[in-house]
Amino acid sequence: MTRLDEIEANLAAVLARIAAACASAGRAPDEVSLVVVTKFFPASDVRLLAGLGITDVGENRHQEAEAKAAECSDLGLRWHFIGSLQSNKAAAVASYADVVESIDRAKLLTGLSSGAQQRDRLLDCLIQVSLDPADTHGRAGAATADVAALAAQIRATEGLRLRGVMAVAPLGEPPGPAFERLSVVADSVRAIDPSATVISAGMSGDLEEAIKAGATHVRVGSAVLGQRPVIK
Ligand SMILES: *Cc1c(COP(=O)(O)O)cnc(C)c1O
Repeated sequence: MTRLDEIEANLAAVLARIAAACASAGRAPDEVSLVVVTKFFPASDVRLLAGLGITDVGENRHQEAEAKAAECSDLGLRWHFIGSLQSNKAAAVASYADVVESIDRAKLLTGLSSGAQQRDRLLDCLIQVSLDPADTHGRAGAATADVAALAAQIRATEGLRLRGVMAVAPLGEPPGPAFERLSVVADSVRAIDPSATVISAGMSGDLEEAIKAGATHVRVGSAVLGQRPVIK
């Protein structure tokens, strides 16, 4: 089995899971977009994905993402930055990313704005929302209470376009109720900006729960590309 065969078979299985989840949630399959997370996998895999019709890919580390986006610049892909972001890297990320999904604090906005303006295009922005209990630190994301203010700041920043919210299911808790909480936060963001319709939620292990709770985008890595090497 070639790498192409393997990716093609995995992709077909993931698309079937998405279609089944949409059907059981009473949603049309085209309401949910697939972002394939290519972190740790080579640019050659990104090229195979593009050949299979994938249009959106996600990366979580700046240096790796920047190199891969440059190597694959002929493919016309939309690059989603989904990782934790340092403010001193924000402008650089905005120079190749089409969507930044992991905006969790206002400190990132100046850099993202200047990167977007240098490139002379609008940068699509998602607010990463923490679904952890309020008193836990650790996992990334803005606290629910801070989301409205951050949304307003993104809207007021030149070069940035607020598109919605993103989250990762919390550890040690079933994902379904957490994704339901995200859906409530997403409603509050859409009340601020009716065009901010994106809910990016769901990964290889929990895309069904996310689709049931209203996700418009799922970010799937290992179910398409295989297990990532473990980085300690
Ligand atoms: C790695 C990653 C994913 C994909 O995870 P899989 O379990 O491999 O599907 C999705 N979202 C974020 C933010 C990630 O870092």
